Amino acid sequence: MRVNDSGAALDAAPRRNALWVIAAAALVFAALAMAHALGVAAAVAGFAIITAAAIFSIRTGKDAGRVIPPIAVAEPVFADPLKSLVDGLPDPVIALDRDGRVLAHNERARALAPALRQGEPVSLALRNPELIEAIGRAATRGEEQRCEFSERVPLDRRYETIVVPVRRDAGSGKPDLILMTFHDLTPLRRVEEMRADFVANASHELRTPLAALSGFIETLQGSARDDAKARQRFLAIMQEQARRMARLIDDLLSLSRIELNAHRRPETPVDLIPIIRQVVDGLETLARDRGVVVKLESAAAVNVLGDHDELVRVFENLIENALKYGASGKRVDIAVSEAQSADGEPEIQVGVRDYGPGIAPEHLPRLTERFYRVDVTESRAQGGTGLGLALVKHILNRHRGRLSIESSPGAGASFIVHLPLPGNAQNISNYNYL
Ligand code: ADP
Repeated sequence: MRVNDSGAALDAAPRRNALWVIAAAALVFAALAMAHALGVAAAVAGFAIITAAAIFSIRTGKDAGRVIPPIAVAEPVFADPLKSLVDGLPDPVIALDRDGRVLAHNERARALAPALRQGEPVSLALRNPELIEAIGRAATRGEEQRCEFSERVPLDRRYETIVVPVRRDAGSGKPDLILMTFHDLTPLRRVEEMRADFVANASHELRTPLAALSGFIETLQGSARDDAKARQRFLAIMQEQARRMARLIDDLLSLSRIELNAHRRPETPVDLIPIIRQVVDGLETLARDRGVVVKLESAAAVNVLGDHDELVRVFENLIENALKYGASGKRVDIAVSEAQSADGEPEIQVGVRDYGPGIAPEHLPRLTERFYRVDVTESRAQGGTGLGLALVKHILNRHRGRLSIESSPGAGASFIVHLPLPGNAQNISNYNYL
């Protein structure tokens, strides 16, 4: 079969192989694009590359048949085209024959099912009844099947498995090949969980003051109807609860607005010093009430590219937190300086340091999460929403800056704002916050 004077059989083998590869590639890339594992452009490009390689292999096969001695003639460009195709795909992929035996798999599939062996039934490596049934259905019905597949060890991961029957020729007979692609759903699920947590937290935060308001309204309509003293007291509490709801809604709206603009970097030069002064002046009453002295050390003018109102929000949150949670230290120092970033770029640093109880190390990485508080009761008593530092993080992200926190219990806390100098703003690519 390999040696043929006319060269016809020599041409047939590589052409058959190549058609196989093109058919399989079309199905796999179409499945990946439909599952949104690959963009349409990437799928088309991937398919084009594989097709070109397959056509090249036919040509090489033909040319080789004419020039090179017979034994080298039938050597295809890809020793195992199916394996080469599967290896080149970004997701875990396993190719099976119609009896469910492994023909080829890539390294990613091997990481998912370490017991996979070529020539062995896939059911030995993937002991998932739903998946095995899906393969059986794809083989007998010749229709694409989808099912979920989850893995608990070493990490909790979820995949959508797409089982595609592939036929050598167009027709409705039994498939010659079954391709399994695993599309990782874990990041998507994580985002969904985060959204659900966020909605649950926000509703809970709103429901608490709302319940208090309803309770007082009922009391005022009932037992306290004619009690002028109680009415005064309850109205004051109701006003505070209404303010708390307003603050929360305001913070939630600010967060979503900042997120919407996250990719639009502010381009207006602003001087940080008047901003910080304005914030310190605005918090003078709070500082006096808490018996805290606020000291600002700075140069005459420090320009950055920024959004004035958002930067006011950053320093309001940090200085107010220092006054609320670090009041026992009786002092808050604000220092503005030019320093070097971790990447060696010059940057502006504004440190807000208090001498209060400080924060235990296990809380530090989570402080900028929405609704995360070290002590929920204290935060509520201080009128906190749990969104202040999340807002700070998002605003600084938009400014291509970051927030770092240094603290240890009993030694106060230092919240440091890092902002790129105007000339370096476009070079800064560090998006870490803590
Ligand atoms: P909140 O509205 O609760 O103040 P933030 O996001 O501003 O929300 O802060 C989150 C939590 O971080 C606070 O509830 C508090 O537990 C802790 N925290 C913030 N600043 C300080 C500080 N200077 N000292 C000690 N703890 C702080």
